[in-house]
Amino acid sequence: MIELNETHQPELTSWVVSANDESSDFPIQNLPFAIFKRKDTAENFRAGVAIGEHIVDLKAAHKAGVFSMELTPLLKTLYKPRLNKFMSKGRAAWSALRLELSRALRSGSDAQAQLESCLVPQTHAEYKVPARIGDYTDFYTSINHATNVGKLFRPDNPLLPNYQWIPIGYHGRSSSIEVSGHGFHRPHGQLKAPDADTPKLAPCKRLDYELEVGIYIGSGNKLGHAIDLDQAEDHVFGLCVFNDWSARDIQAWEYQPLGPFLSKSFASTVSPWIVTMEALAPYRQAWSRPSDHPQPLPYLESHDNRNAGAVDMHLEVLLQTAKMKADGVAAERVALSNFNQSYWTISQMVAHHSVNGCNLKPGDFFGSGTQSGTSPDSVGALLEATEGGKNPITLSNGEKRTFLEDGDTVVLNGWCDSENAPRIGFGTAEATVLPAINT
Ligand code: CA
Repeated sequence: MIELNETHQPELTSWVVSANDESSDFPIQNLPFAIFKRKDTAENFRAGVAIGEHIVDLKAAHKAGVFSMELTPLLKTLYKPRLNKFMSKGRAAWSALRLELSRALRSGSDAQAQLESCLVPQTHAEYKVPARIGDYTDFYTSINHATNVGKLFRPDNPLLPNYQWIPIGYHGRSSSIEVSGHGFHRPHGQLKAPDADTPKLAPCKRLDYELEVGIYIGSGNKLGHAIDLDQAEDHVFGLCVFNDWSARDIQAWEYQPLGPFLSKSFASTVSPWIVTMEALAPYRQAWSRPSDHPQPLPYLESHDNRNAGAVDMHLEVLLQTAKMKADGVAAERVALSNFNQSYWTISQMVAHHSVNGCNLKPGDFFGSGTQSGTSPDSVGALLEATEGGKNPITLSNGEKRTFLEDGDTVVLNGWCDSENAPRIGFGTAEATVLPAINT
């Protein structure tokens, strides 16, 4: 686990004035990474760090002589259009850069004059998926979600017996992960009504969002060598907000016996920013397992994991329909949840994933699975909120939704705050449902 250090001090302020606004996602204690360029230019994509309403262009900052000579090889990895090489360098390297950046961005820093010309306003930037994601694994770590969904598919047997022993996951599709701000067409697939004899190919009618945390692997492990639970977070670069769109009607017909396939592989959305595990240190919480539940096997059990395995990360879903957009009405909250309810921790996901010797690589990606609380306004998918489409939700303007309609925009937010640390945010993961093609 990462100890608190001078970069976490709550009283730190920045000479970038917008970073000192209490409502900013990006105070000086955050310093998340993205890959960006200026919109509508021929610039190359490159790495940046968010500060207030700006981005520090790390290549420009390096060239301006802001950093110490020892960081030169590390900084050159940040000229690249993806973060994989930087992610491979490991926790000590990420931390060394964070410390120098924190010092350079502080109020009164001598580096202000050199760094000012290296700032790009976020409103002028476009982003791309920050890593080349080789493999994407989708976990299922919210027991509330697993139970709610299980009840719909198997009323008598909602939670399968392996759930409380294994961080359940499956291999997802990385090619269709896109960065916030995109649109995607409603997918086609095989649909089969319960009373029909045969399926038909048609556009999905039960399109849903999934409120998830995205987890980027930093340094990997050698094939054949498992990662111990207490070293697991050394291999994790950071977290983002993640919408793993799902076609529930395609899923219902295809998911047995091998699990979801085309119902999940048509689109997923990441927020542009990756908040590092170091930045998240002040927001860690104890993780526990109810005493009447099975306790983890020894390879998934440790003092550190119990002590601070959970992350107190608020997660929010907002919905804006086409009508709301036309009427100038802002997106409306439909769910508020927290990652600290997760049945399994990030370390347990990493340790379990590698226990068979499977090698994780820099830039690999995990979805946490939909993070749902216990109350109706805290569930992270419409499937749960509407009890399988039976009870529509009603928005403030009177519109109803059982599942998503064309023109709906879904915005996910994530943030952390605590009594002893400022609010830090993850930026948004936003995308819009477009009509199915050929209809
Ligand atoms: Ca998922």
